[in-house]
Amino acid sequence: MIKIEHVTKIYQAGKQQHTALKDVSLTVQKGEIFGIVGHSGAGKSTLLRCINFLETPDSGEVWIGDTQLSQLSKKQLQEKRREIGMIFQQFHLLSSKTVFENIAFPMRLSGAGKQKMEQRVRELADLVGITDHLQKYPGELSGGQKQRVGIARALALQPSVLLCDEATSALDPKTTQSILQLLSDINQSLGITIVLITHEMQVIRSICDRVAVIDNGIIVEQGNVNEVFLHP
Ligand code: ADP
Ligand code: ADP
Repeated sequence: MIKIEHVTKIYQAGKQQHTALKDVSLTVQKGEIFGIVGHSGAGKSTLLRCINFLETPDSGEVWIGDTQLSQLSKKQLQEKRREIGMIFQQFHLLSSKTVFENIAFPMRLSGAGKQKMEQRVRELADLVGITDHLQKYPGELSGGQKQRVGIARALALQPSVLLCDEATSALDPKTTQSILQLLSDINQSLGITIVLITHEMQVIRSICDRVAVIDNGIIVEQGNVNEVFLHP
């Protein structure tokens, strides 16, 4: 489903160079929940941004299904990105828009019809459990509810992959568990492939099938969660 082959990413900050990813290779199977764990600064966000090509690798290749991302034109890449949903630690909701409008936003951008859009928003709100809050503004919601809105918006265009960037790091333990449960349910019911990055082992243990451990830009271990954590 997702194949990353020998990806290297070097940031240039003034005269300083920083190699954020060094020859990173990994494969995520269709339908699995794949975790990438590492300390702050290890390269997790960079790796996630390489998967949807918000960041261009300096060398190496990224494949989504049969598509080699470096071969796409800008326009094709934009279309491909619709197949990838993303959620964030800080939710990134539009504060001046209602929950309904936040969820509808990707559909508005893609020119969906009004009726279809409304139906889809209600479906999604139902799926993530925020039907009662559609007319509220993000500022009126708890952290967990905000992330539910983030998840609904990420699913709006029916992506095949959901990328989660520290999606529970701003939430308390109980809310974290409920969001992880929701992600797990979505993975099961929609068959959507999930890649998540986190600095929390507990998140990986809770829902991931497989895990890659990244340290200083290098994948130091990769495998089934039980195997990797039995032999630390
Ligand atoms: P993580 O998500 O694991 O915290 P990041 O991928 O954000 O790690 O960052 C990896 C390394 O690359 C860090 O040392 C960070 O400071 C550096 N870095 C990230 N983005 C940039 C950038 N745009 N310019 C320069 N350095 C960056
Ligand atoms: P994270 O919480 O994932 O570690 P950061 O706080 O390191 O993220 O980075 C936030 C943003 O700042 C990112 O867009 C990243 O690309 C950018 N960034 C991170 N480190 C640097 C850096 N050393 N120089 C320039 N930009 C950076």
